[in-house]
Amino acid sequence: MKLTFLGTRGEIEKRTRRHRMHTSLMVSYRNADVMIDCGLDWLGKLRLLNPSAIVLTHAHPDHAWGLKHGAPCPVYAPQKTWQELRHYPIEDRHVIEERTPAKICGIIFEAFPVEHSILSPAVGYRLSGGRARIFYVPDLIFIHERSAALKGVQIYIGDGATLTRSFIRRRGKALIGHSPVQTQLTWCEKAGVPRAIITHCGSEIVTGDERKTSVIIQTMGHDRGIDAQLAYDGMKLTL
Ligand SMILES: [Zn+2]
Ligand SMILES: [Zn+2]
Repeated sequence: MKLTFLGTRGEIEKRTRRHRMHTSLMVSYRNADVMIDCGLDWLGKLRLLNPSAIVLTHAHPDHAWGLKHGAPCPVYAPQKTWQELRHYPIEDRHVIEERTPAKICGIIFEAFPVEHSILSPAVGYRLSGGRARIFYVPDLIFIHERSAALKGVQIYIGDGATLTRSFIRRRGKALIGHSPVQTQLTWCEKAGVPRAIITHCGSEIVTGDERKTSVIIQTMGHDRGIDAQLAYDGMKLTL
C-alpha cells in the first residue's frame, strides 16, 4: 500500500508551500488510487488526479466541497454526509455503513463515528490492504469506539488543528471541534500504535516555525514511545 498526502491544510486562511491544499490522502493499492476527502481546493483538479474512487469523512468545506461540480468516479460516504451533499451532481453514489467493513478497490474501509461536528457528523476510517493497517481521521475530538478502531493499527494519521491547546466547544450536550495532537498521541500509546502522522494542519503549524513544531511533535511522540511526524503536501510513504 502506498500513501500520498495530496493536501495537509486544515480549514484556515493561511497556506504555505508545505501545506497548500486541503487535507486529502491518496491510498494506492494494486492498480487503484482511492482519494480520501476532497475539499474546495480540489475543485476542478479531479480529472488530473484521476482517482479510482473518492471516500469522504464528512461534509465540511475542506473535506467535500471539491465535489460541488460532481466527480469523475464513484464516491463513498456515510448516509449523514450524503444527506448534506444531496444537491451535488454526483452520479455514482455509495453509502458506507458505520462499523461495517466495505471493500473499495480491494482496500477494506471501516467507518468509525467520531465526535467533531453536530451539523456535519464525521467518521474516521480503519483501512486495510494486504498486511497494511492504518487509521485515518483528519478531524475529531474523540473516536467513539477507540480500542476497536486502533487495534493492530501500524500508523495513526490524525488531526493537526492544534498541538496542545484545546479547540473543544460545548453545544448543548454535544462537543464540537478538535482535540490536540498531544491527546491523540496518548491514545496511540494506550492502543500500542507505534507510529503517528499529523495532517490537517491548523494555524499553529502552518504559521509557526515548522522546524520547531516538528521537534515538539517528535518529542511528544518520543515521550510516549511513538514515532510521530508532521505530514506535508506531496509526502509519500510505502507500507
Ligand atoms: Zn477539516
Ligand atoms: Zn471538519
